[in-house]
Amino acid sequence: MSRASSELDPSLAARLHPLARLPAEWATVLARLGEPSYRGQQVFRWLHARGVFDPAAMTDLSRNLRGTLAGMDIEVPGRVASVHRSQDDTRKLLVELADGARIECVLIPMGRDPNADEVDADAAVIDDEDGDDEVLVPSNRRTTLCVSTQYGCAMGCTFCASGKMGLGRGLDPAEIVQQVLLARRQLGAGEVLRNLVFMGMGEPLHHYDATARALRLLTHPDGLGFSPRRITVSTVGLVPGIRRLGEDFAGKVGLAVSIHAPDDATRERLVPINRRYPIAELMACLRAYPLPRRRRITVEYTLVAGVNDSAGQAQELIRLLRGIRVKVNLIPMNPIPGSPWGVPADARVAEFRDLLVRAGYSAFVRRRHGDDVAGACGQLAIHGRSVVAAWPSKQEPGG
Ligand code: SAH
Repeated sequence: MSRASSELDPSLAARLHPLARLPAEWATVLARLGEPSYRGQQVFRWLHARGVFDPAAMTDLSRNLRGTLAGMDIEVPGRVASVHRSQDDTRKLLVELADGARIECVLIPMGRDPNADEVDADAAVIDDEDGDDEVLVPSNRRTTLCVSTQYGCAMGCTFCASGKMGLGRGLDPAEIVQQVLLARRQLGAGEVLRNLVFMGMGEPLHHYDATARALRLLTHPDGLGFSPRRITVSTVGLVPGIRRLGEDFAGKVGLAVSIHAPDDATRERLVPINRRYPIAELMACLRAYPLPRRRRITVEYTLVAGVNDSAGQAQELIRLLRGIRVKVNLIPMNPIPGSPWGVPADARVAEFRDLLVRAGYSAFVRRRHGDDVAGACGQLAIHGRSVVAAWPSKQEPGG
């Protein structure tokens, strides 16, 4: 379908941003200029694996081709406008796009021990249980990058800063991938970018085609070569998108689903899209997801004081998830300006988690990362001129 045809369609290949072309598409573009097809792979490697954008530095290409590429305007489509480093070494990158839109991505340190609870709690998604490529160099610091897929978000979740801002626009695949390339340059010595989570601003499955192409680019062995299971796409629960993702990637890309409540009435208060895809439908879709053996779906559950954090609701959640291979990430509500929702007490959070654990679930409380730089879950908002006033300056020094 779209994948195969796009690789063969020369006009599409030419229209795509250079950074959004797969090797075969590069080959198509270069073939029209009389270049042999293996050049496609070479150019793709320079851009994606090596992060080199200056054609003059692409030493294995002919001088002629380097000259041609120089005229093609091959650039990262954005620049890092600022980096905010928090006390726990979380780094929030503010990336300015060509049209002035500002998006964010967040580098989150993961801790060193892959078997420690903390690791799972940290990044939400690290399925190290299969551990086959777990060659740990002790001095390596492993880091997760949280990327954005849209500028703003259309889903309108009532506790989320991005949701409250509405949708600016979707990012194109080049703008999604460049976050990884730009963030990679921020890594310190011995720091390894290990996992990607599509949990930044936006709803990835509301912007499916660009998200899927970004996934193909990021997992391509000639590029960054991320294993699909080191990438997790987080969705508010768009059922058709989950089905497509499962089909297109054979369930190999990690899936996280924002459930947030065990019943429709409560969920609607937090996640308006529940009216379109109610819980029963969502659960049926999760049961049908082509999950590989030993993988689990991550269930995200933001705990909001007095709304979805009671022991009874934990019991309901336990019943709801029965029979689905999940791990549960509990995210204590991160306060956002102008939201009526409150932060649950630590004891409440612990009790909620204990109930899940006693029922046999893996359940983790996600530690708050970077909330001193407004880089924690749900704190990524549009930083355009028009909305910057919505942010207290103490939380958003760069806005
Ligand atoms: N659109 C995707 C990605 C959103 S951000 C999705 O809905 O899953 C990743 C997670 O952060 C989601 O589970 C989201 O519900 C949660 N989140 C959003 N705002 C939050 C807040 N203020 N406090 C805690 N978690 C929040």
